[in-house]
Formats: sequence, C-alpha cells, structure tokens
Amino acid sequence: MKKEIEITRPPLESLACVTPDCKLYAQPGQGNLSVRKTYGKHDKIRYLRCSECQEEFSERKNTALWNCKIPEKKAVSVTEHLSEGNSIKGTARLVRVDPGTVRRLNKRAGKHGEEYHDDKVQDVTVENLTGDERHGFVEQKSHPAWEAELMDLKSKFVLSHVQGRRDEALIRQLLQDGAKRLIDRHRAALFTDGDASYATIFPQVFGRPYRPARKGNLGRMPNMRYRIPRTAAHVQVIKHRHNRRLKSLEIRYTHGSIKRIDQALSDLGYKVPNTSAIERRNGTARLMSKAQVRKTLAFAKREDQKTALGWWGLTVYNWCRPHRSLRCLLPEPQGKKSINNVPRQWLLD
Ligand SMILES: [Zn+2]
Repeated sequence: MKKEIEITRPPLESLACVTPDCKLYAQPGQGNLSVRKTYGKHDKIRYLRCSECQEEFSERKNTALWNCKIPEKKAVSVTEHLSEGNSIKGTARLVRVDPGTVRRLNKRAGKHGEEYHDDKVQDVTVENLTGDERHGFVEQKSHPAWEAELMDLKSKFVLSHVQGRRDEALIRQLLQDGAKRLIDRHRAALFTDGDASYATIFPQVFGRPYRPARKGNLGRMPNMRYRIPRTAAHVQVIKHRHNRRLKSLEIRYTHGSIKRIDQALSDLGYKVPNTSAIERRNGTARLMSKAQVRKTLAFAKREDQKTALGWWGLTVYNWCRPHRSLRCLLPEPQGKKSINNVPRQWLLD
C-alpha cells in the first residue's frame, strides 16, 4: 500500500519570533505568537504575529520552503527524490514539476542544509577522524569538482564537507574546518590516504604553535614551528598500485606516537589502520547524488547545482538516516525484531 507523505504543522509553542531585534528572538515557547490568518493556494500556511515586537511574518520565514509556491507535499517529494540519487530532470518528470522548480529547491535545500550543519556541529567531542576526497566534475572532465570530507570514525557522522579543486588548499580548508568544530583539536587521531598535503598540514592545524628562540640579536625571527601533543597523531594508509592493481599496502605513522594510534584502534575495534569507513561513505555519497555517479552520462552541468546536491545529500546522510553499522541488539527480541537503529545525533549532544 502506498503511504502518503503527511504534512503536519509544528505546534505554535515550538516556533519563535524571527525579528533579530526582538527581545524574544529565536526563543520558542514564550507565548508571544498568535495566528493572524492562514494563506496559500495549496497549504494552510500560518501568518504569525509577535506580541513583543508587533511584527508579522510567515511561519515559513527562515525555512528552506519560504516563498515556495508549489504544494508542500510536492516540495518534500522533490527533495526526497534528489537525495535518493535522481537527476534534476528525472526528479522533474517523476514529481511532475518544472526542472527550474527542482533546481531552485535543490539550491535552497543545499544552502539550508549547510547552514543547519554550521549551526549544530560545534564543540563536538570527537577524537578519531578520517578524511578523504572523492572525484567529481562539472560539465566536462577537464573541470574537476572534488568533494572532500572529514568523518568521525565512531559515529560515522560527517563533520566537514568542502568542495573544489583537489589541491593543498582544499585539504587545508577541510582540516581547518574540521578542527574548528572540535572541542579539543589537540586530541585528534587522523586516518587518511597517502596524499602528501595531509602530512604537511596536520601539524599546523592539530599541533601547538611555538616560535623557537632567535640565535643572537640579529637577523629575522625564526619561523613558527608546531609541536604535536601526545594526544594527537596522524597515520596514512598508502596504497601502492601497479597498472591500477593493488600491489601492497603501506602504513605510515607520520605524526604523533604509534601508541596514540593503537589506542584509537582499540577504541574502534580495528586491527590495523584503514580508511574503509570513509570509502564506504564515498560509495553512499555517490548513490545519493546523481552528479557523483561514475562512468555515466549523469554529470552536473552547473557547479552551483552540484555544490547544493552535495550538501543536501550530506544533510540527509547525517540527520535523517540511521546508519547500519550503528545498529545494536535489543536486550530482549520483540517478535522477529532483535536489532535497533540508533540515530547518530546523540553522539553530538
Ligand atoms: Zn518579536
């Protein structure tokens, strides 16, 4: 039986005033909001009034669907189709809307997902991280558009997502973005592939800076150096290939102690350092974004659409889907059911 998407309006107590100057700005449950009227051709959207600042605004203000003219059910369906790996035009055909509408909603959903991520993912207590980049392109193969990500190895939550050309600047941006979201960047153990940029940038981002004393009173001040704290380490898993075939695997302990990496391995239940978790995520991300599917005609024609689709897929991966590897056994089986899906947000609280 087909299950219809049900749109339920959030209770008034969960909404807040959206006027930045208002005393009750962004404070839900203060009893300051009342419904002035409802509007909209398809949905009964509430137009609210704040008794504190006397301003009136739509309940959709500051949401991804603000000023959206199609029925909410359709808009939700469009975003669902996009994150299941359908193309812009494919989604337009399936949901029966104009491709322009899909493009507009894609950009909105991506932007909103990015802002939500920025707002929520701060001061996290994650310690064991893994990073990788996946290839993509826009319009033609000569225009690369990579997606680089940093992921928590325990919860499989993606902390950082950056896009651009694959160079040192992209890796620097990735590590800096990840580090600023951590409550203590000096406790990080990082697992990456053999890209040299990770090894060069790791001390600058996760180490403690100091300036060595100048010899004598003349000359320039020596350059900044970085000390790796005992609680931080970086390991690289380097794949040596011959004619694209894997020949051998090298584990290189680039920074910090082997002891710190061993502690990370025992925390995670790993035997040897590996990057399989982020490679699994790469596969999932390619399934969730049509622009990232390999060896097909389905590539992105516009960079802004690809960027938005990348962020929207990440938002659904991080916040909407339970992760298979986080399932746990129920204390007692309930009928045929013996395992439970755990949402991974609890790891951020
Ligand atoms: Zn107000």
